[in-house]
Amino acid sequence: MAEPAAKSSKYDVIVVGSGPAGISAAINVANRKRTVAVMGGQAPFGRSRKAHSIPNYPGFTFASGEELAAAFMRHLEEFDVPLIGDKVSKIIRAEDEFVVFSEREVYHAGAVVLATGVYREAEIEGEEELVGQGVSYCVTCDGRLFAGRRGAFISYAPQGEEEASALAEDYGVEVTYLPLYQGDYRLPEGVRVLPGARPTRLARVDGHMRVSLPGEDLQVDAVFIYKNSVSPRTLLEGLASDGRHVTVNRHMETGVPGVFAAGDCTGEPYQIAKAVGEGQVAALHAVRFLRERTEIASRDVV
Ligand SMILES: Cc1cc2nc3c(=O)[nH]c(=O)nc-3n(C[C@H](O)[C@H](O)[C@H](O)COP(=O)(O)OP(=O)(O)OC[C@H]3O[C@@H](n4cnc5c(N)ncnc54)[C@H](O)[C@@H]3O)c2cc1C
Repeated sequence: MAEPAAKSSKYDVIVVGSGPAGISAAINVANRKRTVAVMGGQAPFGRSRKAHSIPNYPGFTFASGEELAAAFMRHLEEFDVPLIGDKVSKIIRAEDEFVVFSEREVYHAGAVVLATGVYREAEIEGEEELVGQGVSYCVTCDGRLFAGRRGAFISYAPQGEEEASALAEDYGVEVTYLPLYQGDYRLPEGVRVLPGARPTRLARVDGHMRVSLPGEDLQVDAVFIYKNSVSPRTLLEGLASDGRHVTVNRHMETGVPGVFAAGDCTGEPYQIAKAVGEGQVAALHAVRFLRERTEIASRDVV
């Protein structure tokens, strides 16, 4: 199962997503003797695990999803690749590296492979346009900006409670928590909880954020959102996509230098063999990207 902690926070390549595409990418990076970590390891091989019988993955005739998952995990372990449980909420391009934010930690990588699977969660009206202008998916990245102010926290899953608690306790934000799930809601005192209040629209009005709820409007300074997956478009600025799928070329390059994508997140067919193949192509080009950058840097020094 997933390791709770990484061995390091700096890798040559970080792979975001632990399905077949991500595992294939990581094995291929490790095989080229580069350091690599896979993020999103709470339920590795998540979707494919549910398959009762997989008829078309070569070499594993009618294996179940669980059997194939076990074989992939053994392979990953053989290469000693760390599997980090955290979900990635934001990636920022810095001068010569990428800064990868999870709920708990900050990681650094020379190149990134996105292997996040199909993005399925519906967006709230106004959500996408306001990312970075009042809407955030990352308390670690943006909580500080709203210290001491008012925030709405929309959460699709109980894991959001920890994030909302950090927003309230670490940054002193006056939090209204809007859970889109049923639960016990373990939150610090002072956090207002509005169960069942499903937001219908987010808007920026007179420098504030307005959250439209059935029967009332909430006025806050920021809206934080916790989802099980983050749309590729909002994960990294400058990434071209059609909304559901990241746009890539035959090298699995995304158009953001150093960022590659593989698997269901690049488009149909949604199939394991296609995901694994793309994972390999992405990995090999990520390694080439790192090598070329090192060569350029050493030429510049001479
Ligand atoms: C029931 C079922 C049966 C199937 N049967 C077959 C079959 O017989 N043959 C076949 O070829 N295919 C089958 N498929 C399809 C196959 O499962 C997918 O095509 C394959 O899993 C795609 O792999 P992937 O790595 O691209 O994405 P996924 O397997 O979806 O993995 C993506 C991973 O990324 C993680 N992730 C997402 N966002 C983040 C983030 N921000 N940070 C960290 N991690 C993140 C997700 O949690 C997930 O674990 C089946 C699918 C299902 C559901």
